[in-house]
Order: sequence, then C-alpha cells, then structure tokens
Amino acid sequence: MKSQLDPMNPADIEQALRTLTGGVEIHGDPKFSDEINERLLTAGETAQANAGRADPATSLHVRRLLSVAIKAPTNAKKVAWLHKAADTHAAAIGPHAACHDGCSHCCHVPVAISRLEALAMGRAIGRSIIEPEYHEPLAFRGYEAPCPFLVDNRCSVYNARPAVCRTHFNLDADDLLCRLTPGQDVPVPYSDTRLFVFAATEMEPNPGNWADIRQWFGSPARAESV
Ligand code: SF4
Repeated sequence: MKSQLDPMNPADIEQALRTLTGGVEIHGDPKFSDEINERLLTAGETAQANAGRADPATSLHVRRLLSVAIKAPTNAKKVAWLHKAADTHAAAIGPHAACHDGCSHCCHVPVAISRLEALAMGRAIGRSIIEPEYHEPLAFRGYEAPCPFLVDNRCSVYNARPAVCRTHFNLDADDLLCRLTPGQDVPVPYSDTRLFVFAATEMEPNPGNWADIRQWFGSPARAESV
C-alpha cells in the first residue's frame, strides 16, 4: 500500500507533528512531595536544553531511515529499518538523558506496539503472539504490572525490544521523576518521539492492530516460562 506521508517531506512532517501530542505535560500536583513539585518547575526547560545537545545532523539521518522503513517492501524490513532509526536516535540523545542501567520505570508504564512489530519481536525471540480482542483498550494496570520481559529489573529481550523502548528517554537532570511512586502518575520529561509514532502509524494505520506489549505476550509468568 502506498504511504500517504513521508518523513523526508517537510510539509508531511509539519502535518504529522501538528496532529500528534508533543509529549508529557509537566505540571505540579499537591499530592506530590515538595521535592517532586520543585523539580517539575524546571524539568521541561532542562529536557529542552538536553534535547538541544544532541547532534542536529542526526535528526535528518533519522528521518531518512524512517522514510526507508515506511517504504520497505516487507514487514520484517520495515521493522528492521524502524529499529535502525530508533537506535540512531538513541545514540544521539542517550548520552544527554538521565536513563541508566537498572532503571526500569518505563517498563512499568503502557508500552503500545503494533501487530507488525509484535510479530517481528515474537519471531526474534521464538514466541507466538496472543491476538487481543479487536479494539480492546490498551492495558494499563499500573506499577503492579510491569512488562512481561522485565526480569531482575532488566530487559530480557534487549536486542529484540520494540522501537518505543529504544526511543524512550527521560531528559531531566536525573531520574528523580522516574522513581516509582505507586498510585502517583508523576509526569516525566521524555524525549520527543512523535516522528517514530508517525512512522509506526504509517506502517500500521489500523488502530485494531495496536495493543500493549502485555496483551501481545501475556503475563510475566507466561513470558518467563519460554
Ligand atoms: S521490552 Fe524490555 S525495555 Fe521494553 S518495556 Fe519490556 S522489559 Fe522494558
């Protein structure tokens, strides 16, 4: 199927970014601690400054790779190019992020992936996917339901992890806002991944083919038993 939008076309980019939300809204809340509320005052600006430290040439390179991904002739190639773009973005932005080995905050929040990427991931790790109910809403069971592939606080499928995991970075000064506070959804100044959402949606436009990683692969017990 011919793609409607192209990441190499500035008008398409403008249109895509207009229609996608720009990221997490950073604001305080009386239910958060003083330390967190104080940090929320500066987190947005810190994140913007850190994002600006990434090599600007990378952005064009990422757009080229996403364009190739969207037009790739097979689903496997689409996902491979998407991951190449994600890893290129990660190499540029990662050194300026607060993320560090052993932090698993983003493995406890919703992880939406397309059927196409779930299938590629399943192939890479030797797992079949579970077909979720059509249009079933994304599962979010809070911090008690981490990703089934999180083992001992580390990703057990690191090389096969989806693009959303490869591109998720907290751009604050440190991981304070990521520390898990059960029952409190503290906003985190994540890097802007709208181009990846745009490309992944172009590759899989049917909302019925999107679900949470927990829905595609089941409970932690099922994942660990494989
Ligand atoms: S696939 Fe890996 S990185 Fe992604 S949410 Fe699961 S455990 Fe975390």
